[in-house]
Amino acid sequence: GHQTEDRTRLFEVLKPFIQKQILLGDAACGKSSLLVRLTDDRFLQHSEPTIGVEFGSRIVEIHEGQDAGKRIKLQIWDTAGQESFRAITRSYYRGAGGALLVFSLTSHQSFSNCQGWLADLRAWGEEDLLVLLVGNKGDVTEEATGGEKREVDREEADKWAQEEGLAGYVETSAKSGAGVEEAFNTLTRLVHARQ
Ligand code: GDP
Repeated sequence: GHQTEDRTRLFEVLKPFIQKQILLGDAACGKSSLLVRLTDDRFLQHSEPTIGVEFGSRIVEIHEGQDAGKRIKLQIWDTAGQESFRAITRSYYRGAGGALLVFSLTSHQSFSNCQGWLADLRAWGEEDLLVLLVGNKGDVTEEATGGEKREVDREEADKWAQEEGLAGYVETSAKSGAGVEEAFNTLTRLVHARQ
């Protein structure tokens, strides 16, 4: 009826200003922490995996390129612990323009598992979905003492991202905030440029 048509038209008008982005990756690699850092500029040392954040929203201004200065509202979806059961539903992927595929730089296993998460993204995601690979917990690798070791080289991650035709590779720290804004900003800009 008319209502459906109106709603469809409204979506078409708003589409360039709103983006759905999803977070995907192994449990404990820092997805919720990245979301909290971006939307609330905080870090929780002992976040409860069971009380995961489900949604976040934030207006992001594009810094570079032909769309510099444009403001876009991001709606960011987090798995809220469902990734542990591989129980992520189709609705999670639906309508997402961008995905942050996250692993921890302190866990090579979490990097290797990105292959499986990428297969899911390709199977379930929209055809034009852009995927940005994110190596998180960058701060840990810089601590001289007491820190965990870096298990994934930048070159290795970069190479895999290129081989898979991903939108790029960035390193972040949800703890210090390093690279977090840039990661979301880069993905927003690339998705927007494609729309
Ligand atoms: P998720 O399961 O992928 O959502 O991961 P969480 O955001 O719950 O983070 C798992 C654990 O790693 C928590 O104890 C966080 O405090 C910690 N963590 C997350 N991001 C970072 C980071 O950038 N650096 C450090 N040192 N710890 C982090």
